[in-house]
Amino acid sequence: MNQAMQALFDLTGKRALVTGTSGGLGRAMAIGLAEAGADVALVSRTGSRETADAIRALGRRAEDLPADLSRDDEREAVWNRAVERFGRIDILVNNAGIIRRSPAAEHPREDWDEVLKVNLDAVFRLSQLAGNHMIHNGGGKIINIASMLSFQGGILVPGYAASKHAVAGLTKALANEWAAKGVNVNAIAPGYMETNNTAPIRADRARCRSITERIPAGRWGTPDDLKGPVVFLASRASDYMHGHILCVDGGWLAR
Ligand code: NAD
Repeated sequence: MNQAMQALFDLTGKRALVTGTSGGLGRAMAIGLAEAGADVALVSRTGSRETADAIRALGRRAEDLPADLSRDDEREAVWNRAVERFGRIDILVNNAGIIRRSPAAEHPREDWDEVLKVNLDAVFRLSQLAGNHMIHNGGGKIINIASMLSFQGGILVPGYAASKHAVAGLTKALANEWAAKGVNVNAIAPGYMETNNTAPIRADRARCRSITERIPAGRWGTPDDLKGPVVFLASRASDYMHGHILCVDGGWLAR
């Protein structure tokens, strides 16, 4: 690869804030951004020590900033803490998310509320804080983590499907407003990936087999499958992309 092409994807000197980094997709994406040169603020409810260690081992800076993103006051406080530590934030990855499974007719109100708070309200509030900051600084990249359930209804997860459809709509709404101000807002829609989030459906052998058979790639995704897409959307290589939902799904939606 020549130097000009390398420079398009290089994140050296960039500072990112990634949510949901204690494990799963968030950890892999945070490490991927660091491998491309970025320093990373890590936000998850329980803290992200192992992720921070992995990033420091790469020679990049990591700040482990635990916060409960279901709470409005903690969203703002953790954003301010990250800006204080790093001086500025160039990349925001809204990845933290939860799922609650039960039939719609019996879906508990608390589950609905909790899912919407983490999967949607936190995405809006952090994007709002980041958007203001990035517009003031002349630009930035916001990457939301959507889902196949931004397009489909799923099974037994009404709140989750509603929240992920909303994330896709919010991505486009913010892109419309901020594209001309140098802020790229896009989303990644992962397919079926091997993480805690999908452990219950992988434990159901019949369901797991039927999902695998429907994936054209013939396998579930791994967290590392998101490293390339997140670096692409965080880098200059995607400067003319706005409001796009990038599906990383082994072909699931093409079926
Ligand atoms: P995971 O359960 O492995 O990780 C979720 C992360 O979010 C953890 O770090 C957790 O600490 C954090 N989190 C949860 N609630 C929080 C809160 N209140 N405050 C702060 N942090 C909180 O899940 P994952 O599979 O890595 O999912 C990451 C994202 O990808 C989610 O938005 C999920 O909906 C989405 N997604 C996952 C899949 C999949 O197949 N695994 C597919 C599509 C989309």
